[in-house]
Amino acid sequence: STQLDQVQLQYLEIIKNSGSSLLSIIRDILDYSKIEAGKVDIQVSTFAPVQEVHAQLEILGALAQKKNISLQLHEEIGPQLVVEADRGKINQILLNLIGNAVKFTPDGGEVKVSLSEEPLTEELLLLHYSVSDSGIGISQENILRLSQPFFQVESSATRSYQGTGLGLAIAKHVMQRHGGELRIESDLGKGSTFKLIFPASRVVHV
Ligand code: ADP
Repeated sequence: STQLDQVQLQYLEIIKNSGSSLLSIIRDILDYSKIEAGKVDIQVSTFAPVQEVHAQLEILGALAQKKNISLQLHEEIGPQLVVEADRGKINQILLNLIGNAVKFTPDGGEVKVSLSEEPLTEELLLLHYSVSDSGIGISQENILRLSQPFFQVESSATRSYQGTGLGLAIAKHVMQRHGGELRIESDLGKGSTFKLIFPASRVVHV
């Protein structure tokens, strides 16, 4: 909030970005340590899936815009659907999947997020989330290795993409704990689709 010149402002921006990158690396490592220690608890709360997806897209909107990537949402469930599931962990996984889609898609590409429900019983349903991109894609051989911790397709020291290689390993374990699964489909050079499918309870408003 003090008077800064243009160069000082740029330096501050770099420090701020480095701080948040470091924080997300520390968070990933802590989360994965928790998983390894068997200490991941599913904490159920009440939320509206459509509203939460909108919030995650908003966080990544500026980054997508910077890369001129069209970020679309296709929702087949109504905003009035309220469920019980682990809101925090699902948002964390979604943010990672949409963040990866934007990160691994060249400028001018497309990222589509879709959301639908599959009723199981009157109270129970399966939520289906899908994040597709028109990005660099992943070979079939590498898809099998993606949920191993620290695995990154391009892992050289000069790699052009930032990250820890932990996000998908975390997603796979959390989905399993939640009674669901993470599915990965990809065509090298054409794009990828990451799907989350997990059970949730429908909250009925009286
Ligand atoms: P990080 O993104 O931090 O490296 P992740 O576990 O989220 O860690 O992803 C692991 C690796 O999977 C990435 O480094 C990348 O090689 C590959 N990957 C993930 N998402 C995509 C995607 N949408 N398109 C292409 N490659 C991807």
